Amino acid sequence: MKIFRSELSSEFKNRLFDMTAGDLPDYGSPFKHDLIQCVLSSTKVQFGFHLSGSLSAIHLFECDRCLDPFSIADQIQVKLWLTPNQGLTDQDELEMIYFPDSMDEIELAGTFADLLYLSEPMKKLCADSCKGLCSQCGINLNNSNCLCKSDDSVNPWENLRSFIPKQV
Ligand SMILES: [Zn+2]
Ligand SMILES: [Zn+2]
Repeated sequence: MKIFRSELSSEFKNRLFDMTAGDLPDYGSPFKHDLIQCVLSSTKVQFGFHLSGSLSAIHLFECDRCLDPFSIADQIQVKLWLTPNQGLTDQDELEMIYFPDSMDEIELAGTFADLLYLSEPMKKLCADSCKGLCSQCGINLNNSNCLCKSDDSVNPWENLRSFIPKQV
């Protein structure tokens, strides 16, 4: 998604930018809806431009426990500074973007892809209470029950317990 310098310097508030998932560099996380909505504001600051707002996207994940697909609507805060001062961007911070005076426009797709990626949960669960799959027959325990015996009954140590003298 490109923004022109002329747009940035004339400043804008809560402007809607439509972006498609296809505009973003592929990073292995499909989006349910192709549309990613950005609402952004630009302000001039001493060392360049400040770009703030939010990205809205619907992530499509596979549950780590039951493997069912599920989606999460995500809204990510955007806070970026675009600056021609290379010293400021040397610090390897995602928020500081090098934007030399010689450039008329800036491509932000890579930065937005990083922000979306960083917002993904480490553990992807369809629900905190997800029961997952049966370790024996593989059935999805959220939808149905199976007749597999629970692990306790096949515990090989269970028989040994009868040999332990009872405490009086
Ligand atoms: Zn699940
Ligand atoms: Zn089972």
